[in-house]
Amino acid sequence: AVKRSGKNGVRLYSGHLMDQDERRQMLERELRHAQERGQLYLEFQPICTVPTGHPVCLEALVRWQHPEFGVVGPDIFIPIAEDCGLIPSLGEWVLSHALTAAARWHAAGFTAVRVAVNISPLQMMQPQFAQTVAQELARAGLPPPALELEVTEGIDMRGRIQVEHSVLGIRALGVRLSLDDFGSGFASLSRLNELPVDVVKIDRMFVSDLTGVVARSRRRYVRTLISAMVTVAATLGLELVAEGVETSEQYDELAALGCTHAQGYLFSPPVPEAGVVPLLGHVAQNEVL
Ligand code: C2E
Ligand code: MG
Ligand code: MG
Ligand code: MG
Repeated sequence: AVKRSGKNGVRLYSGHLMDQDERRQMLERELRHAQERGQLYLEFQPICTVPTGHPVCLEALVRWQHPEFGVVGPDIFIPIAEDCGLIPSLGEWVLSHALTAAARWHAAGFTAVRVAVNISPLQMMQPQFAQTVAQELARAGLPPPALELEVTEGIDMRGRIQVEHSVLGIRALGVRLSLDDFGSGFASLSRLNELPVDVVKIDRMFVSDLTGVVARSRRRYVRTLISAMVTVAATLGLELVAEGVETSEQYDELAALGCTHAQGYLFSPPVPEAGVVPLLGHVAQNEVL
């Protein structure tokens, strides 16, 4: 029997309670077939302008629908895919399907709305990565600036030379780069100057602490930090996205601090592809944002 649990996504029983290793091995075994069995799908969550709330981009987020486990989230299976060599293929599936979806909303007239795809550092380490991106864009018939690749700060820690090669290749294509979860790792504000990115996404931990039940000194620190990010982003001409915006209180703070973009449940949870065009409905078609 299999039982789902909210927090960890899946809890598996097979007579006895599985330990971590068994659960992990089971997920890995099943994940090897997920793609060919059509169990992967994408959801999309809008990134909106502040203060007008117009969606300018949709972030593709992969999910795994397993017949017994239910829906497994990427926080659980992406690390497994990275460990067992499945990520290049899974990542290509995501890229290809995200671009196909974006081509549909472009065909529906929403040509100013980009798609953002999360990229694992292991994908960036593939010598052919930029070429794959170019091929997928051509197949989907989309211009490179319609695509944003979200990478995390850690990317320059491993395989630095190869990652730099991919970054340069991506930039040469005209694809946009976005630094995800900023502040959660090692990148500092001063490093932003050296990174060839177009977008910086403030980790949702900061957004949550902005108005959360934390020490007043912590709230003050987070406010100062975000304010500094706003200044640096403006100076460097970067788009600054606050992640995980859930309340209008957070939104008001972020707007007052000068944040230009926001993403979170306040605007919309991630929705299936069919929900995207209705979300875009209130954006004027072909509007330049
Ligand atoms: P991320 O790229 O930072 O994506 C944002 C995560 O925050 C998503 O979780 C999203 O559902 C969640 N989120 C959005 N708004 C809110 C909010 O207001 N409050 C809270 N608490 N959470 C919010 P999700 O979909 O579970 O994805 C988790 C992570 O998995 C992503 O974090 C990303 O790092 C990774 N991921 C997702 N899809 C892919 C993919 O296709 N490839 C790779 N390599 N990684 C992926
Ligand atoms: Mg992301
Ligand atoms: Mg993030
Ligand atoms: Mg994340």
